[in-house]
Amino acid sequence: MRKLIAGNWKMFGTLAMAGAWANAVRGAAIPVDALVCPPAPLVSLMAHALLGSTVAVGGQDCHAADEGAHTGDVSAPMLRDAGATHVIVGHSERRADHGETDAGVRAKAVAAARAGLLPIVCVGETEAERDAGAAQEVVGRQLTGSLPDGFAGVVAYEPVWAIGTGRTPTAADVAAMHAFIRQTLEQRFGSHGAGLRVLYGGSVKPANAAELLAVPNVDGALVGGASLKADDFLAICRASA
Ligand code: PEP
Repeated sequence: MRKLIAGNWKMFGTLAMAGAWANAVRGAAIPVDALVCPPAPLVSLMAHALLGSTVAVGGQDCHAADEGAHTGDVSAPMLRDAGATHVIVGHSERRADHGETDAGVRAKAVAAARAGLLPIVCVGETEAERDAGAAQEVVGRQLTGSLPDGFAGVVAYEPVWAIGTGRTPTAADVAAMHAFIRQTLEQRFGSHGAGLRVLYGGSVKPANAAELLAVPNVDGALVGGASLKADDFLAICRASA
């Protein structure tokens, strides 16, 4: 399966930074599928700046409704209209900061698909849950609750304790969790589950990308901090092929 490298800018970025980033990656040879998810105010700008390039643009979250009285929220059709092709849902920062539940994440994934966006559904255990030996149980529960029936999207496994910390699980731990996720997807979705991409996320950098992306059942990466620098994002793409 061709790898997908998805950048998640979180709440970082300016018009000037986004323009410079797009200029730097637009003409670059990128040997993987590439996606950048800037903050909502920059989605349209990035979609235009990257038009004709091989880098797609996504949102970082969407509301479960297509429109309505939901001040501050962004809907999936709005992201689609702005030029996005993907949207991240259920990132651990949203689960923690906004109390998002598995059922709520599932509704967002449904809304994304309805709007023609590919949802990237995030799952992952906390450090306490891993220490308690409950990592697979937690991720299994999140998969069951967050993925809608007929799911056609991407799963991102992001151990919460590895996000933005510089710490990563061992390759063996990543392999074990991704094998578990693959098995869970196949049990639920049959042969379709074998073809769903499963990304790893959590402190992916140019220096560790090749090792993490070589792990079986790792079909790409969701990259936070390192995706803000165009050079690092490109280096991760090149190391991942
Ligand atoms: C993320 O934001 O999804 C992420 C994995 O962040 P970082 O790469 O900075 O750990």
